[in-house]
Amino acid sequence: MKLDTRALRYLTTEDWRVLAAVEQGSKNHEVVPTPLIAQLSGMRGGNNVHKNISTLAKDGLIAKVKNARYDGYRLTYGGLDYLALNTHRKGDTIFSLGNQIGVGKESDIYVCASPSSRQLVLKLHRLGRISFRTVKANRDYLRNRNAGSWMYLSRLAAQKEHAFMKVLHREGFPVPEPVAWSRHTVVMEFIDAFPLRMIDSVPDPGKLYAELMDMIVQLAQRGLIHGDFNEFNILIKEKGGSGGQREEETEEGSAFAKDATLTPILIDFPQTLSTNHTNAEFYFDRDVNCVKRYFERRLRYTSDEPGPFLKDAIKGIDNERRLDVEVEATGFSRKMAKELDRFVEPVSNEVEGAEAVPADEDDLEDEDEDEQEEAEIDIEDVEGFEPERESREAGALEQPDDATV
Ligand code: ADP
Ligand code: MG
Repeated sequence: MKLDTRALRYLTTEDWRVLAAVEQGSKNHEVVPTPLIAQLSGMRGGNNVHKNISTLAKDGLIAKVKNARYDGYRLTYGGLDYLALNTHRKGDTIFSLGNQIGVGKESDIYVCASPSSRQLVLKLHRLGRISFRTVKANRDYLRNRNAGSWMYLSRLAAQKEHAFMKVLHREGFPVPEPVAWSRHTVVMEFIDAFPLRMIDSVPDPGKLYAELMDMIVQLAQRGLIHGDFNEFNILIKEKGGSGGQREEETEEGSAFAKDATLTPILIDFPQTLSTNHTNAEFYFDRDVNCVKRYFERRLRYTSDEPGPFLKDAIKGIDNERRLDVEVEATGFSRKMAKELDRFVEPVSNEVEGAEAVPADEDDLEDEDEDEQEEAEIDIEDVEGFEPERESREAGALEQPDDATV
């Protein structure tokens, strides 16, 4: 989905107010009735609201829905993008938006810049995109449900990613610094590096291999498993070497100078899980095997050492220092994690031959046709979900300046 920012500049104060009203109304209404939009926007004189509504609909930020009972509007992903961008603009997080640098399985990645010209990355989570990770969800959920549910899940994914990156960065793990999150978006440090996937050869594969395995173990010692630890989610940063120049760069990939120092940076955290998860060992082993397989196939490196193994990694784990427990207590609660897990399996499909996730009770439940009607998320019911507070934060009532996002 393309992020078209053209309309950001000419939306009026009232347009923003009406857009925020549709977002607020979406909390309890699949289709927000027009009179409710008028009421929530707090604008007097119904006529104006219709004009704003038609502007927003023309720009694709809201969409008209004809319902059996009433007509109304729903927020589109475009509208949600705008509201999030406006929050980042108001919070002085993002000043300008640059090129799209990645289309992930379930995200769009853009480079952007802060007011002080710091290069950043904007990640927009798009859980509605059909992909392997949401096979389960597509099966029993998308079929009958509205787009609002996807927006809600994308929002949970962003919140989760930000929460984990925050503690990991603080604890000195090599992850991009998270800067902010709003709705379905996370803003983070830009890492000037290639994913491991793009790299044909490294000067010392044994060293890089050991570092990656060490990272998996270090994470487990703090109670965490990445869950999608593969060559797409490991960026290889180069320091030093022969003027920082790669020896060769081809369409296929690139090789580093012999004396280059390589630092792996880990990204992509929506599927991160606790070492207390029922299937923790499965996910830990899968992360380990992803790296093993990649090094064997692509870098022709096979380690003599077995493992690492989860049971060794978590031996003597210090409960006081558990990051899974900390994140759960301070931001992304267990209840939220469950909501997300139910629909987004931590399945890696990026790697050929990736194993299937073992069936758990939820899976069995989902096969049951009768259960489908109950697969509905009650937003009200979820701890810490405060859309009103956020739409106030959004500064959605003011018009953006020119020349900004
Ligand atoms: P997805 O969940 O869709 O896989 P990722 O977070 O893995 O999303 O990002 C997709 C791609 O975007 C990455 O493989 C990487 O090339 C690029 N990317 C993501 N975050 C950053 C970042 N902070 N700095 C530089 N590139 C990034
Ligand atoms: Mg990824």
